[in-house]
Amino acid sequence: MAIVQPLAPTSDGRRRLELRNPATREPVGEIEVSTADDVAAAVARARAAQPAWAARPVSERAAIVRRAVSVLIARRDEIVATVQAETGKPRAEALAIELVPSCDFLNYWSGRAAKDLTDERRRLHGYLRPLKKLVINYQPLGVVGVITPWNGPFVLSLNPVAQALLAGNAVILKPSEVTPHAGEWAAKVLHEAGVPADVLQVVHGDGETGAALVNTDIDKISFTGSVPTGKKIAAACAERLIPCTLELGGKDAMIVCADADLERAARGAVYLSMFNSGQVCVGVERIYVVDSIADEFIEMVRTRAAEVTYGPGSNTDVGPLFWDRQLDVVSRHVEDAKAKGATIVLGGEPDTAQGAFFKPTMVVDVTHEMELMREETFGPIVAIMRVRDEEEAIRLANDCKYGLSGSVFTKDPDKAIRIGKRLHTGSVVHNDASVIYGVPEAPFGGRKDSGLGQVNGREALRGFTHPQPILLDRWQLKKENIWYPYEQATVKTLERTIGFVFGSALARRLMR
Ligand code: NAD
Repeated sequence: MAIVQPLAPTSDGRRRLELRNPATREPVGEIEVSTADDVAAAVARARAAQPAWAARPVSERAAIVRRAVSVLIARRDEIVATVQAETGKPRAEALAIELVPSCDFLNYWSGRAAKDLTDERRRLHGYLRPLKKLVINYQPLGVVGVITPWNGPFVLSLNPVAQALLAGNAVILKPSEVTPHAGEWAAKVLHEAGVPADVLQVVHGDGETGAALVNTDIDKISFTGSVPTGKKIAAACAERLIPCTLELGGKDAMIVCADADLERAARGAVYLSMFNSGQVCVGVERIYVVDSIADEFIEMVRTRAAEVTYGPGSNTDVGPLFWDRQLDVVSRHVEDAKAKGATIVLGGEPDTAQGAFFKPTMVVDVTHEMELMREETFGPIVAIMRVRDEEEAIRLANDCKYGLSGSVFTKDPDKAIRIGKRLHTGSVVHNDASVIYGVPEAPFGGRKDSGLGQVNGREALRGFTHPQPILLDRWQLKKENIWYPYEQATVKTLERTIGFVFGSALARRLMR
């Protein structure tokens, strides 16, 4: 029985989708798919409600978002239950991936908002300084569409929604059709904290609803999901000349240097490849280990990976894949690797007796000819490739169409920086990996096929605004020397300005 499958339409012709728990395949609810008309009506309501929301002081909006932390804590068991019902992930993962970072994001952004979004005075340089003053107004964009995936359905919805609201926008959230109710909790906690209903609305459905949202009267799209969908969204936004941020897939490399703490590297290799059943955009997808320590490292990884348990319930390490489509992708990549000469050390096959499980898997002798090392796999797979030295590791890490993040395992932080600077990735992490998404100060975003724009950092929060420079007159001068009519004096003023302001090295330095 498929995890998401169509049901008979409603009497007024709306499509319906039934959802099943991927760990047990038991039904866990259904959604009615919002039509293009529903989406347009939601956007119209949002547009009408947005000016009053934007007119509230940032501190007031921040107080509401801060209150959402308490709501979230009070409702956490219900949120976790919904996340677990729709994804089958263990409770520890629902808490670690969805709840803890969500509390931190709400708390952090609500604390930053006043500082980062209130009007900012910027001191002008040089000859303009005596004449003008500059104020930057972080003007809300209007109505923002937030479209999210199924692998972190709560946190990946809540984080952009909270930022967009703090910036004074109304928001329409379209969660994944695989995890709609887990995504909807992001709106529920914010509503309960005081965000007005029309300022934050949820539309449900699949790609058709998402496309309707992108193609309606919207002012920005914040998208998290796959590369093919991201490219469609970028094209639609280009057509309407509206901004979008695209947080897309990854194929993150982990580099294990000869001086790494092998115990930490081996544990990290297993956990960072397998947690959330490997369905993490910034999870480790490929490991390059230098030859001199490869045998020891591979044996240590094998020992630890062999201890990893899988199955339904909260007492196992690895839960199911969240839907059947993912099971097909992971199986195909492993089969392709086997056919091209890889050695399956552990696992290597699905287990669908009950749910959509793929056995925790370890693969060695992999090459870049294999899909497993080139395409996003999104499964509980540790794939290890032995390399001559760090140079080869860097070259192979960069031999990839994705560029989301990467990690370097070494005891030397300077080496981590040196290697990190040569990786063509949106971010780099030392002796760890996926935690980067949970660092709100870090301007997180992908390069190459992994996306466009930032999802965290002050850049992301301000990305939900138009930074509008307002240039103020300092003196209310009656006359400008360089306006019409042009006279001899006009030219003289300009000539003198060039001489005075830029004519000597000292003047140039003072005018910077
Ligand atoms: P997806 O692209 O299939 O779907 C993502 C969302 O887009 C869903 O809500 C879906 O209904 C909607 N959608 C589908 N077609 C659409 C269209 N034509 N127009 C508008 N919306 C449309 O992705 P997915 O399978 O749900 O998510 C998994 C992907 O997300 C992986 O590639 C993963 O790496 C990526 N991801 C990236 C990040 C990041 O921060 N970079 C985080 C999590 C997941």
